[in-house]
Amino acid sequence: MEFKETVAEIKFDNRFADQLPADSNPSKQPRQVYKAAYSRVEPTRVKAPELVAYSKEVAEKLGLPADFLESPQFVETFTGNQLLDGMDPYAMCYGGHQFGNWAGQLGDGRAINLGELVNPAGEHWTLQLKGAGLTPYSRTADGLAVLRSSIREFLCSEAMFHLGVATTRALSLSLTGEQVVRDMFYSGNPAPEKGAIVCRVAPSFIRFGNFQIFAARQDDDTLKQLIDHTITANFSHLGEPSAEVYVQWFHEVAQRTAEMIVDWMRVGFVHGVMNTDNMSILGQTIDYGPYGWLDNYDPDWTPNTTDAQFKRYRFGNQPQIGMWNLVQLANALVPVIEDVEALQAGINLYGETFGNGYSAMMVSKLGLNAFVAETDDALLENLQKVLTFVETDMTIFYRRLAELPLSEGDSERSDDEWLAPLLDAYYLPEQLSADAKSQIADWLRSYAQRVQADGTADEDRKSAMNAVNPKYVLRNYMAQVAIDAADEGDYSVVTELLELLRNPFDEQPEMEKWAVKRPDWARSRPGCSMLSCSS
Ligand code: AMP
Ligand code: MG
Repeated sequence: MEFKETVAEIKFDNRFADQLPADSNPSKQPRQVYKAAYSRVEPTRVKAPELVAYSKEVAEKLGLPADFLESPQFVETFTGNQLLDGMDPYAMCYGGHQFGNWAGQLGDGRAINLGELVNPAGEHWTLQLKGAGLTPYSRTADGLAVLRSSIREFLCSEAMFHLGVATTRALSLSLTGEQVVRDMFYSGNPAPEKGAIVCRVAPSFIRFGNFQIFAARQDDDTLKQLIDHTITANFSHLGEPSAEVYVQWFHEVAQRTAEMIVDWMRVGFVHGVMNTDNMSILGQTIDYGPYGWLDNYDPDWTPNTTDAQFKRYRFGNQPQIGMWNLVQLANALVPVIEDVEALQAGINLYGETFGNGYSAMMVSKLGLNAFVAETDDALLENLQKVLTFVETDMTIFYRRLAELPLSEGDSERSDDEWLAPLLDAYYLPEQLSADAKSQIADWLRSYAQRVQADGTADEDRKSAMNAVNPKYVLRNYMAQVAIDAADEGDYSVVTELLELLRNPFDEQPEMEKWAVKRPDWARSRPGCSMLSCSS
């Protein structure tokens, strides 16, 4: 087939744009947009697009032809310079609660949806450029994104997918060839940075905030249309929209959200900005901004400097925030769903799903067969203590725990002997007091007993644990190393990390350098331990 013909094979079916009311004003001028789910807007042309990296798996999932991927047209398309036939670009209107307060209209201020690609399997995938220029929702900002934050979004979306966490995906990361000025720490020091665009991919980018904006404006008609569209387009297994299906739908959103947050807790991910405009209706992780990964286990940690005072979005608070956000969504749905009790039942379902899911997840991290409340409540509670006597690297801890020989009963081991295989997980092992050591050793003894009660052989426990506890995560400093190199024009670290994080559970002996504790230099370096929303 000719190149032109293979590109023509890429099909679009733009259900969101076709089914929902559009803004009638064609201008990009920032403004309030009423009675519309979106505004049609073309990406702004960029000067010198250059592809930095793309995800093979996403390209494959979309069924993009190989010659297209290797052509200059690929980067022209995914920086918005040259659209494909069938694309119909638009920015969505949404609102949201930011840090607990209703913020009114937000919307796709720098994201432009290109359209819904239909892959050879018949699945719809929305393609969205982040950083493609002004839209009516840009408010006072510029609609652009910088390389630093784009690398973080690109790598983390793919890393999360391979970790088994529900997430939006990233197809490509490109430079625009233009400079973008950012004041990274809002400290009065603006500086030019390289502009970049990520093409994100998801079955839908609809957020809790898309529903909230219509409820806030008492636009029940558009609200109902959006609910019906979401169900028909993305929850079609529930059947045609009806009073009953509405409730089932909300319950499923609650369950999916709970499951996603269980997975965040499993891998040590802190989203950083769980505003309701950053909550996908599909229960997928969305909007990778000032997110971070726990190095040392600390439930009170958040990477987001904007949230430093109250730490609303700290690691250990994410489950509660998930519920708070669902309550806001439920409130927004009341005008259409009306059945307040059923909505309340959905909130309760979130609590149950999270509670059961969390217990099951935690015992799976320990290689146990199933959660048994009589023994495991105490085991898990004490584990929290064990992980915080001194700074303990969460990722290394679980991988080391998997190596412990436990199936043979050996009451003879001293505290130090118990701890020896775990020492690598401690940032400052010399700070472990004798009392802490004895409590950790006691916990290990009770864990060993629990494993023996299950009757699991060491080898089996190890492989089960290593399938849920990653060896490689995108530690904050790793993304920063990739960014520092990229700033100098070296994109090899981006590609290396993309490749590494495709198999986060596997031993990759040649990549061992990325499986170590956070280096000391990264402890207080901006970008590694502190991030702002500036991106
Ligand atoms: P975020 O904190 O990234 O979730 O963004 C909150 C809101 O600000 C969303 O409506 C974004 O589209 C918008 N926004 C963030 N950065 C920019 C930017 N550089 N230009 C335009 N809008 C932006
Ligand atoms: Mg956002």
